[in-house]
Amino acid sequence: MSPPNLIQTHPLHTVSAPVALSYELFPPRTPAASDSLWKTIKELEATNPDYVSVTYGASGTNRDTAVELLNRLLNETTLRPLAHLTCVGNTAEELAEIVTDLLENGVRGILALRGDHPRDGSLEHPPGSLHHAQDLIELIRGVEQRRTALLCAGRVAIGVAAYPAKHPESPSQEHDIEVLLAKQRSGADFAITQVFFHAGQYADLVRRARRAGVTIPIIPGVMPLTSLRRLQRLGDLTGVEPVPELVRALASADDDGERRRIGVQATVDLARAALDAGAPGIHLYTFNEHGAALEVLDKLQLLRPDRPTFARRRATPLSASVLAG
Ligand code: FAD
Repeated sequence: MSPPNLIQTHPLHTVSAPVALSYELFPPRTPAASDSLWKTIKELEATNPDYVSVTYGASGTNRDTAVELLNRLLNETTLRPLAHLTCVGNTAEELAEIVTDLLENGVRGILALRGDHPRDGSLEHPPGSLHHAQDLIELIRGVEQRRTALLCAGRVAIGVAAYPAKHPESPSQEHDIEVLLAKQRSGADFAITQVFFHAGQYADLVRRARRAGVTIPIIPGVMPLTSLRRLQRLGDLTGVEPVPELVRALASADDDGERRRIGVQATVDLARAALDAGAPGIHLYTFNEHGAALEVLDKLQLLRPDRPTFARRRATPLSASVLAG
């Protein structure tokens, strides 16, 4: 066996790698919701996350509010946004235009998704529309290639969805892994998982993915399990059944404080199990609320890099401040 080389023995490689931290936000639907979201954003910003993701309604139902939130994050905070983008119901031309706009506004990370079909079957598939997230990844890489100079030859970080419990439309978990591998081959850089409620599901997904040749980081998506109503609604939306013992414990809690304590501890246990299985980061589904997310974070005591708090980005356009200076 050859001796370890200089790179392998460098201190950066011998200490444990820091854990990535990210949050999911959704575009607010009312001015009051926007005010409350901005309080949450300020609280989350203080924890120095690596990025915050912004959801996108299937077929672009909330395109304007999503773009507005992304732009404000870029211009008014130190946060790096990851823009979710769904392709269902949109043509390749429409999507290429949206991706171009995102890049021109300064977004450098996109979570490429198919989006959910409405249950009432109301969604029209215009001719030339994309069918799978894999098609969207290839489209983004195509737009990126045409704009290499603008990106200073850099790449857009493309994330994709992965499923610890089977995707509801998928024939099997093996098929889910084949799809994840296909998304990697098309240019995905990392994956974030759908919510899951059993501690072993994340480790099992990673084991199966690695065996099949998936090498990209798979980041567990963890939701603070403090609201029974949200847990059940999410179960309906995603097809992922909440654990009956947790549902029972939340339902029989004496008050909101007790429910919160039970839910935060269950979330910490889930995230800790994923970290013990080698998860490279934690993605917290915040539902635009910081309280429970920060409690989970506090209890997790993640190993995070020490970062200086950078000066707030300029809120005024560059041209205006350059002219003024
Ligand atoms: P795909 O990878 O296209 O998979 C969809 C189905 O098609 C699966 O059953 C898959 O097995 C099958 N499939 C895929 N490719 C092929 C192929 N080549 N051949 C045959 N079958 C194939 N939804 C939103 O509307 N907005 C959001 O912002 C949003 N954010 C999300 C964030 C995360 C982290 C996750 C996990 C999900 C998110 N979703 C969001 C939900 C997501 O859109 C749904 O789960 C959707 O049903 C599938 O999206 P996908 O990107 O996994 O699709």
